[in-house]
Amino acid sequence: MPITHLKFPESGAKITIQNNQLVIPNNPILGYIQGDGIGPDIMQACLRVWDAAVLQAYQDKRKIHWAELFMGEKAAEKYQGNIFPDETRQALQDLIVSIKGPLTTPIGGGFRSLNVTLRQTLDLYACVRPVRYYSGVPSPLRHPELVDVVIFRENTEDVYAGIEYQSGSAEMRKVEKFLKEEMGATFFENSGIGVKPISPFGSKRLVRKAIKYAIDNNRKSVTLVHKGNIMKYTEGAFCHWGYEVAREEFGDDTITEDQLHRKYNGKQPESKIVIKDRIADIMFQLMLLRPNEFDVIATTNLNGDYLSDAIAAEVGGIGIAPGANIGDYIAVFEATHGTAPKYANLDKVNPGSLLFSGVNMLEHIGWNEAANLITTAYLLAIDKKIVTYDFARQMENATEVSTSGFADALISQIEEMGHG
Ligand code: NAP
Repeated sequence: MPITHLKFPESGAKITIQNNQLVIPNNPILGYIQGDGIGPDIMQACLRVWDAAVLQAYQDKRKIHWAELFMGEKAAEKYQGNIFPDETRQALQDLIVSIKGPLTTPIGGGFRSLNVTLRQTLDLYACVRPVRYYSGVPSPLRHPELVDVVIFRENTEDVYAGIEYQSGSAEMRKVEKFLKEEMGATFFENSGIGVKPISPFGSKRLVRKAIKYAIDNNRKSVTLVHKGNIMKYTEGAFCHWGYEVAREEFGDDTITEDQLHRKYNGKQPESKIVIKDRIADIMFQLMLLRPNEFDVIATTNLNGDYLSDAIAAEVGGIGIAPGANIGDYIAVFEATHGTAPKYANLDKVNPGSLLFSGVNMLEHIGWNEAANLITTAYLLAIDKKIVTYDFARQMENATEVSTSGFADALISQIEEMGHG
C-alpha cells in the first residue's frame, strides 16, 4: 500500500489548462512545501501575508486553498525516509502552480541535490529570477534603482546534466582514453572530467520563454549571456540558437542590436524588443556599472547560477531575491536562499525571498491587485525601517523585528490600505 499523507482542500478547485493557457478558478488549490531549516518560519509568515493580501484585494470573491505537500526532512519523517515521495511529484504536476521553502539534501540520501532532482523530474527548464530594487533596502550600489532585470537561467543541461567522472575512476579512464586516443585531445593525467551538453532544443525553449515574457510584459530587450568566445559549440551555439528563435519565431516583434543601429539609427521602435548578446565575464561588470542597459536576460545554467546571485546582491542579497522554476505549464516558485540551519525555528530571518516569490506567483495567476498590495506594504514597512536582523545590521536607526513580526507589520499595512 503506498503511504498517503496528502489532502487537497475540498472547497478549492484545481487550475486547468485549456488552449495552451492556464485557467485559474477563483478558489484555486495551490501547493506549498514548507521546506527545512528556516523554511517553516518563513512559510508560516508568508502564508499569512499572501492570504491577507488576497482577502483585502478581492474580499470573499477569491481565495487560495492551500494544500501542504511534503519534501525534504518533513517528507522523510512521514514517508519512511523518502525525501521526495511520488505523491508529492504527482501533486506538483496536478496542481500546476506551487511554492516551496528551501530544502536540505541529506548526505547519502541517494540524491545529488533535491532541488536539481525536482527541476529535472518535472522538466522545469527555466529558473526565473526577477531582480529589482525596493527603495530603502540596503545596497552596495550608488544607483541600485537602475537594476530591474528578469533572469531566465537554463535549468536542465550544461553542468546540471551532471555528467562528471572522478579522477582515477574506471569511467574517467575510459573517457580519457577515448578523448586522447580517438579525438586527439590533450590534458593532464588524472584529470577529473566533466561534460557540458548544450542542445538546440534546450537552448531554444529557454530563449523562447524569455522572449515571450519580454513581449507579454512590455520589456525592452533580451540579452543572451554566454561564454561563446571560448566554448564555441556549447556557449556560442546557445547564443546562435537564441538569435535563431528570435528571427524565426518572433521576427515581427524583435530586432537585433545591429539592426537597431543600422536600420533605426539607434532609436528603438516602441513595438520592437532588441535581442543582444554579451560575453559572461563582461556581463558581470556591465551589471555593476550600467545595469539600466539590461532588462530580460537569457543564459546557460552555470552562467545563470553565478549571475543571478551576483545581481541579487546588488539590490539586497539572497534574503529578498525571489525565484521560480517553470516548465511548459508547471511552475514551482521558491525561496532562492538555502535552509540557513543556524537560524532554524528562531523566528529571525528575512521572509522576503519567499514573500516575493509568492508575489510573482500571484502575478503568474493574474492576481496582480493582491501582488501589488504586498509590494506597496513592503515599501511602506522598509520606509519606516521595520526590518529583520539582516537589514537592521546594514541600516541606521532601524527597528529590528522577527520573521513573524515583519509579517504582522506587512499585514497591518495591507489592512490600512484597505481602509485608506
Ligand atoms: P544559506 O542557507 O542560504 O545561508 C547562508 C547565509 O545567508 C545565512 O547564514 C545568512 O547569512 C544568509 N541568509 C540565508 N537566508 C536568509 C534569510 N532568509 N534571511 C536573512 N539571511 C539569510 O546557504 P548555505 O548555508 O550555504 O546552505 C545551507 C543549506 O541550504 C545546505 O544544505 C544547502 O544544500 C541548502 N540550500 C538549499 C537551497 C534551496 O532549497 N533552494 C538553496 C541553497 C542552499 P548570515 O549568517 O550572514 O546571517
